[in-house]
Amino acid sequence: MERIKKGDLEYLIFPSLEKTGLVRHAFSTRHGGVSEGVYESMNLTLRTGDDPEKVCENFRIITEALGTDPAHLVRARANHGTTVVRAFWKNDSWEIVPKPEKYDAVVTNEPNLCIGAFGSDCVIIFYLDTKLKAIGISHGGWRGTADAMPMHVIEKMQAEFGSDPKDIMIGISPSIGRCCFEVDTPVADEFREKLDYSDKYIFPHEEKPEKLKIDLWGINTETLLRSGVLPENIELAGICTMCHTEDFFSHRKMGMNRGGNGGFIMLR
Ligand SMILES: [Zn+2]
Repeated sequence: MERIKKGDLEYLIFPSLEKTGLVRHAFSTRHGGVSEGVYESMNLTLRTGDDPEKVCENFRIITEALGTDPAHLVRARANHGTTVVRAFWKNDSWEIVPKPEKYDAVVTNEPNLCIGAFGSDCVIIFYLDTKLKAIGISHGGWRGTADAMPMHVIEKMQAEFGSDPKDIMIGISPSIGRCCFEVDTPVADEFREKLDYSDKYIFPHEEKPEKLKIDLWGINTETLLRSGVLPENIELAGICTMCHTEDFFSHRKMGMNRGGNGGFIMLR
């Protein structure tokens, strides 16, 4: 990914998505917000106790960098499910269909409607149909990954916009890497049960015989390929949030004493 600096604000972009000229997008770093202490400084979550006014200001700062504002932003309200909603403009405000309380992914084909998803180790995936001009963003931790979250988004884009997966470009955000994502046997078993191809992304732990390691990037990539996305259209950040807490919040590393990272994408 490429790092963009605007004053104190620093965020990352996928060069492949940027080059299309169709979208503005960003994945946040910790730099350039107003939060303090363990939330320093670009914290994009209210769930871990930060001052709401500061979080609001952070959203203002990062959306302004994308040429928009929080009123034009639809945020995924994630709960580790696989619900995907479609967002659209109605009069002067946005709406979503369906209207569940929680949803881990958003798609839209409306210009100037920003969609965002948030996490702190979780995998945020960006989707851009370059032909029909539609976008998506999804949040997936290990549960979302095991439940084939990206497949649900691709299917939603097919159903809502008529997207051909071959036309969809993908960006996979900084998130917890194989280097750091250790699990117990029941989690690995759930992967094997739900996704028969996940076994080759599950590895013995180098130091702890009772633990395993899982490559979430590999599994999400294979899910996308099996959904019809072309390998050359997938850009993987390949940056582990737990290894890089100077730049990102990491739940595994910091527990609840942390902020949240965010991904944003908007059709121009
Ligand atoms: Zn790591």
